[in-house]
Amino acid sequence: MNQRLMHQHIVQTTGKVVTVKDIHNLRAAMNGKYDVTDVLNEFAASSPDDVRLVVDSDNTVRQILIQTAAMKETFAKFPEVMLLDDTYSINNCGMPLYAFIVEDGYGKDQLVGLFLLSGEGSAQMKTMVELFRNANPTVTETKTIIIDKDFSEISATEAGLPHVDIQLCTFHCIKVVQKKVGSLPLDLSSKTQLNSLYCKLIYAKNDAEFDAISAQIKAISSDFDLEEHLYNAKNRWVQYMKNVTSNLGNTTTNRIESLFAKLKQIVKSKVSLSVCLRQLLQLVQSTHLQSDYRHFCTQTKLTYSHRLGSDVNKYHTTFTRYACDTIARNVKKRKSSELPVTSINDEHVVRNNRTNASYTVCNCLTCSCLYFSSQSLPCKHVFAHVLSHNYHCTVYSTDLVPEHWLLSYQTHAPLPLSEGHHQGATTQLPEVSSKRRCLTTSEQYKSAERCALALADVVSCAGMTLFRCRLCQALCIDSFIAYGWKITFTFLT
Ligand SMILES: [Zn+2]
Repeated sequence: MNQRLMHQHIVQTTGKVVTVKDIHNLRAAMNGKYDVTDVLNEFAASSPDDVRLVVDSDNTVRQILIQTAAMKETFAKFPEVMLLDDTYSINNCGMPLYAFIVEDGYGKDQLVGLFLLSGEGSAQMKTMVELFRNANPTVTETKTIIIDKDFSEISATEAGLPHVDIQLCTFHCIKVVQKKVGSLPLDLSSKTQLNSLYCKLIYAKNDAEFDAISAQIKAISSDFDLEEHLYNAKNRWVQYMKNVTSNLGNTTTNRIESLFAKLKQIVKSKVSLSVCLRQLLQLVQSTHLQSDYRHFCTQTKLTYSHRLGSDVNKYHTTFTRYACDTIARNVKKRKSSELPVTSINDEHVVRNNRTNASYTVCNCLTCSCLYFSSQSLPCKHVFAHVLSHNYHCTVYSTDLVPEHWLLSYQTHAPLPLSEGHHQGATTQLPEVSSKRRCLTTSEQYKSAERCALALADVVSCAGMTLFRCRLCQALCIDSFIAYGWKITFTFLT
């Protein structure tokens, strides 16, 4: 726990005078009190398979794998896209921590494996990937793994999981290029241009755009050899090539960075391995509690949106809120875009008149666009096709959305609902235009502020006599509203 928060808690609950140094001394005393065996015995009592040790011939710990039954279950359900990253300085024996994370149907990150390694050599990494693969048979269904630009991690993943598409963290790629550009003998303006062009290169929309930007980079500096560093793995860092495979919209390892930031609040670099292990196990339990709370909320709360039509609202009864929000956005995009559909046999071509691009929708289930392949959710082209071939003009169809997003598919199935409770209420919801929707307090304030400013404009332009009269009237209206009185205006001609 954070030292400052612990100090605050002790002072508030006991009323005793305790200094931060006392807490520091207490922690130091606790640090040497346990060994790894004590911690393992303590946690093994409830779940013996949660922690596995890999020791070498002289009984030295080489690797520690933490994976609870709940983490295994989560990975088995959501194996398609995985994120891997590491962090250092979390114990006094220099063992780095590696975390495996997946994204669940709620769009939230779920921790599915933690490894403490005695080094970061490629042999250690390969053993780690092998251990994870052997402990999780559904890893064969993993399509994508997102990692930073660590070559040991890349080669270990290539060797252990050859079927997986490796994608590099966009943020780390930019950092690598910025470092390389910084070392070139160029003026500041050229360096800024190179960095900006590289960012454009990452988000190039197609081969032609990529080649055009590459030519601009070469024209500025022939020494800036991207091929040496990144070109060989172009499909791992250029966005349009990455999106050919499912990544659920994840382009960076930020989700893991955020977990590590929370972890560093409690785990300090000077703690012993046993204390570090105990704290990691507590972190895992805490993430389980957060996840259970999230599931409880989704089971007991009903989500409706009065801005949506009743057929879009039906999705809320079956799919997670995250998926429904994305579906609603895509239905809205379909309604606001001109997307004519032409059909030849079972192939339906949807044309985007704004970009002149065409996409093929097959059997209402797949689309050739990169959004569909990367997000695993129906895109605006699928909805364009559904509406053009649907006499009932409804966009609701459970067949359009993969089971990944089903409420019943999530790690803890939702509570059974009483008959007619959910579905009945939802189907009757009428669509409310955005002008009539409920506003938040901040939106109400801004709206009233605009009205007051407009009034001030008009009143301040009047002559002094009229100004005093109008001001007096405005103040009267203000008082009436404050007292809650109803105001009726009668216009005198
Ligand atoms: Zn599409």
